[in-house]
Parts: sequence; structure tokens; C-alpha cells
Amino acid sequence: MRAFFCDEFILPLPAGHRFPMRKYSLLRAWVVENLPEIDLHVPPPASDGQLALAHTPDYIDRVTRGLLTDKEQRELGFPWSLAMVERARRSVGATICAARAALEDGVGVNLAGGTHHAYADKGSGFCVFNDAVVAARLMQAERRAARVALVDLDVHQGNGSAAILADDPSVFTLSLHAAGNFPFRKEKSDLDVALPDGSGDAIYLAALDGALETLEARFSPSLIIYLAGADPHEGDRLGRLKLSFAGLLERDRRVFDWAARRAVPIAVTMAGGYGHVIEETCAVHAQTIGLAYARSTSNASRSLCAAEFDESP
Ligand SMILES: [Zn+2]
Repeated sequence: MRAFFCDEFILPLPAGHRFPMRKYSLLRAWVVENLPEIDLHVPPPASDGQLALAHTPDYIDRVTRGLLTDKEQRELGFPWSLAMVERARRSVGATICAARAALEDGVGVNLAGGTHHAYADKGSGFCVFNDAVVAARLMQAERRAARVALVDLDVHQGNGSAAILADDPSVFTLSLHAAGNFPFRKEKSDLDVALPDGSGDAIYLAALDGALETLEARFSPSLIIYLAGADPHEGDRLGRLKLSFAGLLERDRRVFDWAARRAVPIAVTMAGGYGHVIEETCAVHAQTIGLAYARSTSNASRSLCAAEFDESP
């Protein structure tokens, strides 16, 4: 299995900033230590042309040249720097690579990504560019996948993805999130499932089953991009839900099972995770990567892909 990382491109942040930069290097160290069979790569940065599949040329240009206003930087949550731009482009590049790898091997992983709050013309909530939307549309443009489902299980709604894709029936947006959480103004995904604060494993998994049934009834994806946020975990500072490690592993298993039964390739991104204890956040992501790796070595996922290359969008 191939996995792509961009933690060497450090985002400079002021002391005490709540974005957990360290989780990405910790996660890669975990992979190197525990799953050395995973084939790790540094992705190329996403180009302007690729980013334009999801973003306005004006926004891409202003991010690149450092012309975001103070208000825009506050909404984004990061101070602008050249390094921020490079990291954001690499993170999108990693999801593009993971999607191509998924379509070739059945499963591919980005050890970052899942920046689903980014809109066509603005960043928001630690998300500069919307990697999943760029990758979905690029796979369509490259005629690798006609229909893509974004299965967004980060605890926050995938508002940017929903807004960008509102009029695009070829990419299905599923968001299962905590109702009381950021963003407080929700957008309309193709399927939104909003859970009350404090929901635990049983409520969450029942809601997930229902959401996957609805997805099944309404859409037939040729690629899934899975935003496997760690922030529904009970130890998360921002999440408001109470999933256990076992509940989150079962969540991942149901998504991978759903994809495997329908022979749909799956590209995995990490999305959010803001644990009081950052090692716990990494442990949730590590579960996801471990399961992805296990699936990549099973016969079921090896034979997934050949049919997908012939499809026209
Ligand atoms: Zn989140």
C-alpha cells in the first residue's frame, strides 16, 4: 500500500496555537515503526490548474502571493506564510496521489488532508484548499473515475465540500457530524446526518449504517474519498461526541467493508483530530491506517480496480 506524507513541510505557527502540527510527524513515525511495509512517498505540490478544479483563480492567486486580508487569515485560522502555501499544496498533492493509488491498488492513504472547510473562494477552520474536491474532480478529468463519493466522517460538517459541489451530481457528499459543532452555519450536503452532543458508539454506528444505506440507494461511486477524522473520539477537545477507540475502529471497518463489498477503491485522508492527548489522536488515525493496510493486502481489494479505468465521466 502506498501512503503519502507532507509533515516535512512545516506550517509555522505562533506558540500555543491549537492546531496539532505534531500529530503528522508522530503519525508517520508510527507507520515507519509499526507498518514498515507501507510504501511512503512525498507528494508533489498541487498545481494552480489542479487547485482550480475546486477554487477560484483569484483565491488561488491571493493565497499564493500572500494577499489574504487579516479577516480572511482569522477565518482560516493560520497566519499566512510561504511555508503555509507549500504545505497546503503538498497536502492536496497527497490526496491526489492517494486517489490515483486507490484506483490502481484498491486503497491509498494521505497521512494528512481532509481539509473540508475550504470553500471555492476562501479558507476556513484550518483548511486552505479542499483536497478531496480537487482530487475527486481530477480523477474525473483524468478519466480514472466517473462518480466519486466523499464519505466525510470528521466530526465537523464538510461545509466547504458541500458548497463547492452543490450543483455537481457526479460527486456525492455524505457528512456525518455533530450538530452543535463548528461550522455553525451548515451547508447542504447530498446527505447530512447530524448527531446530538454526547452521542456514543451505538448511536453513531447506527447512524453510519443508515447513511451508507442511503448512499447505496442514491449513488454508485467508482471511487470513495474517505475523510476519517479522529475528532469524534471521546478524548477530543473540539468533537462533542463520545466514541471509543473500539467504536472508531468499527466505524472504519464498516466503511471499508461497504467499499469492499461493492469493489469500490478507497482513498483515505486523516482530516481532524484535536485530542487533549495528541498521542490518542494519533492512535485513532493509526487504527485507520492499520485497517487500510490490512485491506490492501487482502485478495478482495487487489482485484478491485481494472474496470474503473474505462469509465467516462
Ligand atoms: Zn474536524
